[in-house]
Amino acid sequence: MTSLATEPNAPWAKNSDGVRPPAVALHLIDGAWEGEPAVERRNPARPAELAAVSPAGTAEDVDAALAAAVRAQPEWAALPAPSRGAVLIRAAGLLEERAEQIAEDLVREEGKTLAEASGEVKRATDVLRFFSSLGWAPSGEVLPSSLPGTTVTTRREPLGVFALITPWNFPLAIPAWKAAPALVSGNAVVLKPAELTPLSATHLARALHDAGLPAGVFNLVHGKGRVVGEALARDERVAGLSFTGSTAVGLHLKDILDARRARVQLEMGGKNAVLVLDDAAPQAAAAVVAAGAFGLTGQACTATSRVYVTPGIREAFVDALVQQAAAYVPGDGLDGARMGAVVSEAQLTQDAAAVRGAVDRGARLLIGSDDAAPSGGLFFPPTVLTELPDDDPAVTDEIFGPVVVVLEVPDYEAGLAAVNSSQYGLTAGICTDSLALASDFAARAQAGVVKINRPTSGLDLNVPFGGIKDSSTNTFREQGRTAVEFYTWGKTVYLGV
Ligand code: ADP
Repeated sequence: MTSLATEPNAPWAKNSDGVRPPAVALHLIDGAWEGEPAVERRNPARPAELAAVSPAGTAEDVDAALAAAVRAQPEWAALPAPSRGAVLIRAAGLLEERAEQIAEDLVREEGKTLAEASGEVKRATDVLRFFSSLGWAPSGEVLPSSLPGTTVTTRREPLGVFALITPWNFPLAIPAWKAAPALVSGNAVVLKPAELTPLSATHLARALHDAGLPAGVFNLVHGKGRVVGEALARDERVAGLSFTGSTAVGLHLKDILDARRARVQLEMGGKNAVLVLDDAAPQAAAAVVAAGAFGLTGQACTATSRVYVTPGIREAFVDALVQQAAAYVPGDGLDGARMGAVVSEAQLTQDAAAVRGAVDRGARLLIGSDDAAPSGGLFFPPTVLTELPDDDPAVTDEIFGPVVVVLEVPDYEAGLAAVNSSQYGLTAGICTDSLALASDFAARAQAGVVKINRPTSGLDLNVPFGGIKDSSTNTFREQGRTAVEFYTWGKTVYLGV
C-alpha cells in the first residue's frame, strides 16, 4: 500500500531540476492507494515520453472496491446533504490549487491543447461546486392530500452503489460530472476510467480523498474494460451504471444491466450535423463549423462531422471553412498548438482510413490528409471532404477525428431531412439569420441538444445533456439539476397527525 498523497513525488511535485517525474496513477480502494504500476501510457504528442503508469486492475480489485463501497454507503447517506456537499466543495478547492499541474498531466496523457485541458480542469472544479450547492437545494415537494389531517411529501433516496465507466476524451470532467451528483445524493461510487487516461481520474480521486471523503465512498479501479468494466457491470452490488463511450460497448453493458433490472445511463456516439442556410454569414458559419469539427481534435461525441449547405452560400462557406481549417495546425498541446494530438495510433489509423476510403469512393479532399504516418507525434490535420453520396460511411459513421463532410442540399426542408437521417441524435446545429427557420429547426431536429449559430460541441454545466436514437439511453439526462434523478429514486410519504 502506498500513500501517494503525502509522498514528495506526488504527481504535481517537481524534482529539484524543475522536471516532474512520470506520474503514477494507483487504484483508490477503501481510502488506500493500491496496486502495482504496470501499464505504461505514452504522451501522444511525444511518443518517447512516458506520461503515466497505472496498475492493471483485476476482478479481485473490483470485488474489494465494491465491498468497501457497500460498507461505506449507509453512513455517507446518513450525513446531512450539506455536509456531503461540503466535501465536494473542498475537493473543488484542491482541484483549483492543483489546476496547473493537473492540466499539464491531462495534456500529456490525452494530447489535447493546454487551453482545452485548463478549461476542463475548471469545468471539473465548477461541476463539484455546482453539485455541492445541491446539498442545500430542496429534494422534494409538499402536496395537498384529500384526507383530513394528512400531509404528503416526496423525497429522493440514494440507490446505493454506482459504477461509472468513462472514456478518454474528457478524462477529468466526465468522471467529475458523473461522480458529483452520485455523491451529493448519498451514493458510493466505483469509477473505472479509460485505460489511456488513468492520471486525470486519479487527480479527481486524490482531490476527493484529500478533501476528507470517508474511506470507501469513492473508489477508483484502473484497468481494461473487458476485465474491470465487465466485472463491475455484472456485479449485483452495483445498483446502477453510468457509461460514456462507444455505442457498441454501451449497448452491450445495457443488456447486462437490463437483465437484472439495474439502472443504466448511456451516452454514446454521435454524427452531429450543422445546416448552413443562404442567409448565414459565410465567415461566421465557417467559424461555428470549424470550432465544432476541429476543436478537441474532433474527439468529442458532440463534434461536428456533417455539414449540409444550401446552394447560394455553398462556395463562400466552403472557401471560408477551408481557410479557417488551415489555422488548426496540429501539434504538442504543451507548446501552444491550436489543435492537439490524436489520442492513440489506433485512432490515428482509423481517422486516416476513414478519409482514404471516402477518397477511394470518389470524395474530393478540400484540405487535410488520408495518411496516418506519424510525424513525430500522433498528429492528423483538419480535413474537409465533399462530393459524397448520403449513404457513404464517411457521412453515416462516427470517425472521432478532425474530419468533416460538407454536402449540398437544395433547401431548408431537404437539409433538415438530411440532418435527421442519422442513426444518432446527440447534437444538431443550424446557421441562419431567420428566426422562423431557427425556431422550426429547434422543434423538428432529432437531437438531444440543438445549437443555433453556435458550435455543436460545448455545453454549460447546468444544462441537461444527452441524446436520442443510438446516442443515448434517452431516459435520464446528465449534468445540471436533472443529473440527480439518475442517482436517486422517488418516494411518496403520507404523514397523518
Ligand atoms: P472509446 O472508443 O472511446 O475508447 P469504449 O466504449 O471502447 O470507447 O470505452 C469507453 C469505456 O468503456 C472505457 O473505460 C473502456 O475501458 C470501457 N469498456 C470497453 N469495453 C468494455 C466492456 N466490454 N465492458 C465494460 N467496459 C468496457
